[in-house]
Amino acid sequence: MSRLFKLYGELCATHPWEVIVTVLTFTVCFLTMDKHPASKPFIIPPSNCNGCKDHFIAADVIVMTIIRCLAILYSYHQFRNLQRLGSKYILGFAGLFVVFSSFVFISAVLNILQIEIVDLKDALFFFLLLIDLSKAAKLAQYALSSTNQHEVSKNIARGVAVLGPTITLDTIVETLVIGVGTLSGVQRLEMLSYFACLSVIVNYIILLTFYPACLSLMLDISKITDFYKEEQGVLNNVIVDEKDKSNPAVQRVKLIMSIGLTLVHIHSRWSMPSEELKDMGNKTISQCTENTTSIYSYLLKQFVLSADHIVILILLITLIIKFVYFESKDDFEENVTTQVYEHRKSIQRQQRTFSASVEIQTENFIDKDSVEENISKNYPVISDTKRTLQECLQILRADKAYELSDKEIIMLVDTKHIPSYTLEKAIKNPERGVKIRRDIIRNVLEDKDSLKSLPYQNYDYNKVLGACCENVLGYVPVPVGVAGPLLIDNNLFYIPMATTEGCLVASTNRGCRAIERSGINSRLIADGMTRGPVIRFTSIINASEALLWTKKDENFATLKRSFDSTSRFARLNKISTHIAGRYVFIRFVAETGDAMGMNMISKGTENALKIMKEHFPDMEILSLSGNICTDKKPAAINWIEGRGKAVVCECILSANVVSTVLKTTTAAMVDLNISKNLIGSAVAGSIGGFNAHAANIVTAIFIATGQDAAQNVSSSNCLTIMEPWGETGEDLYISCTMPSIEIGTIGGGTVLSPQAACLKMLGVQGPNSDTPGENAKQLARIVCGAVLAGELSLMAALASGQLVKSHLKYNRSYSSKDSSSFDLAENICGSKTK
Ligand code: NAP
Repeated sequence: MSRLFKLYGELCATHPWEVIVTVLTFTVCFLTMDKHPASKPFIIPPSNCNGCKDHFIAADVIVMTIIRCLAILYSYHQFRNLQRLGSKYILGFAGLFVVFSSFVFISAVLNILQIEIVDLKDALFFFLLLIDLSKAAKLAQYALSSTNQHEVSKNIARGVAVLGPTITLDTIVETLVIGVGTLSGVQRLEMLSYFACLSVIVNYIILLTFYPACLSLMLDISKITDFYKEEQGVLNNVIVDEKDKSNPAVQRVKLIMSIGLTLVHIHSRWSMPSEELKDMGNKTISQCTENTTSIYSYLLKQFVLSADHIVILILLITLIIKFVYFESKDDFEENVTTQVYEHRKSIQRQQRTFSASVEIQTENFIDKDSVEENISKNYPVISDTKRTLQECLQILRADKAYELSDKEIIMLVDTKHIPSYTLEKAIKNPERGVKIRRDIIRNVLEDKDSLKSLPYQNYDYNKVLGACCENVLGYVPVPVGVAGPLLIDNNLFYIPMATTEGCLVASTNRGCRAIERSGINSRLIADGMTRGPVIRFTSIINASEALLWTKKDENFATLKRSFDSTSRFARLNKISTHIAGRYVFIRFVAETGDAMGMNMISKGTENALKIMKEHFPDMEILSLSGNICTDKKPAAINWIEGRGKAVVCECILSANVVSTVLKTTTAAMVDLNISKNLIGSAVAGSIGGFNAHAANIVTAIFIATGQDAAQNVSSSNCLTIMEPWGETGEDLYISCTMPSIEIGTIGGGTVLSPQAACLKMLGVQGPNSDTPGENAKQLARIVCGAVLAGELSLMAALASGQLVKSHLKYNRSYSSKDSSSFDLAENICGSKTK
């Protein structure tokens, strides 16, 4: 049977025009069919029953009202179910199916049953009550699950093969069961039964002729380019599984039932020819019209009416049972499939949210193709969830999400009821939130063990959330080494350095050792964090006016008042205005106390611009950051004008230290510094890169102390100068000039405990309550001093030809038994040279 239906389905799908035209032709034939003048209506309208009219009408009105209400409710319910599938195409096709079926049904009712037009509405309600859209939707799902037009015909045929036999048998059984009503002899019931039978037959015919042809044709001509991509993922999962064909036992029962019912029909119609039947009907009616007082006829009348009601009631109960039990079962199935659908969608969302929320840095983190491939096998449907989505939602709305299981929370994230980035807040438990997010991410990763080695426990996430990081998965431990003591301005400092570059700490440590006798002098020569918005004016005339306006002292004072009012510590010191056509760039320079100050200065700048806008209504603030700040990008302006803290350090090393600790000579160091750090960098066109490796030390200290690591760009600007010193010229003078160290001891990552611990090591943690800003300034001087130590050591290593040897040995020392590398490290650190 299936094979036959498959062939038939293929025929419909490959010849849609022919099928559609045939169906339409038949329909038009029905409509235009001449009614034979002698032919009587197939059903005698109940209005002929004059005697029992009042009684009949009262009961009729009630029953029909209930039927109409049910029909509407049922239709609504069916469309709602379809809507839940989430495919606008399925909804559209189902709508088309209903419209066309109703049209054919009406024409059939009017022409076959020849009822009066007033009874058409009852017929239509009956039709609505018996139409089964789930079958139409399933066939549409088959069609829509194709990846290209070629597959459409194949899939429609497959759908017809799977659904056809079941639908056919169902239709036969339904028609025969409802057909029993047409034998009842009860006029009204007979008419309704005819409606119902016709409705079932029309549905069947349209579903297996016009509808598959129409599906094929629409998909062919719609040419919705992304349609397959859009819908396929959804539909592959919700499609009817071929294994879900009706239970063979049920099929057999239906078959036996239909044979039995057919026999009943044949027997009834043969033994009670229609004329006779009609006579009997008329007789019953005439009994009513005569209004006899005989008990027999009264009882008969009552019986006729009661039978009518009883059968309709049975029909209603059957429908209600169908609605409650069978439809709710469908509901359940569809809920599950909807969950699959939502899972798939949410994974796509997660991919988007995940990559977006970690600032696109991880854009390539998830291989989208592999995720797509693995979704179905790796992302389980939440079947073992104890509570339903609705129950979970109630708990969430009661602000008790923490009571839910991890799987239930994941379900709420997947269904977009909890945004992934608010997990910690929603369940009021940061560590559990992180754990659940890891579970979600793990599910979309190919290697399920990827995150195993990324720790997440025992971390104070309260300090992270809303301040340092979002969508947290854990933390990356970075080894922290110590260099020192470093003598700066007569104070000893042990420098924490977080790095994974072998040799770096050892090298800096050797520099510290070289400095330990003479010590470093350091001076902070400027302090001013900057923010430079870009503003556009309507003309260069207005732009120039604005530029000149900012240069006037009284206007600067106005801006300063506005700026300073936003913070207890941020103080505007200077503005410098630049013009480019009708664009104006104002560089706000402010002290920001112990904070690095980017947030503070942004706030102040925004406020100051509000005042300026009062004077220049046509000014358009394009961005608070117009890149003249310049934050986290190489820029000459920071090198020349400075940004954050500008620090200079110097130190003099005796010839003895140069030779014993650094294993070189002053002449070699000076020569190398000129050729490498000055001439080499000039040839390279460097901006602020006149040094050997300032960024190494800056970044290691930045990471250890919770600075904004991206600000190592400008913070590493450094000019290293070396000169021969002393009477003989064999001593070494070295200075480092760093004009743009962007640093703070409060705010940002400095609040995290491990980073705060490193700041404490240096005695600069948090705000300086006596002299606000002093801690940050001190830290900047330490950074510059450590850079100087690093410069000495690396330059010495290069001058003496040790660099490559030490790096190769020490960087690649994976085995702790490699004693030679330890020797070298100790050598660089200085212990061997003591
Ligand atoms: P912040 O933590 O946003 O602000 C510092 C806070 O500390 C202010 O509320 C300040 O008070 C208070 N404070 C208390 N004592 C202080 C003292 N002695 N000195 C200075 N402030 C003191 O820190 P921020 O340095 O302005 O901003 C740092 C963060 O901004 C980092 O996370 C960094 O990654 C990020 N950042 C932002 C941008 C941006 O464009 N917004 C750019 C780069 C980096 P008041 O409220 O009275 O000022």
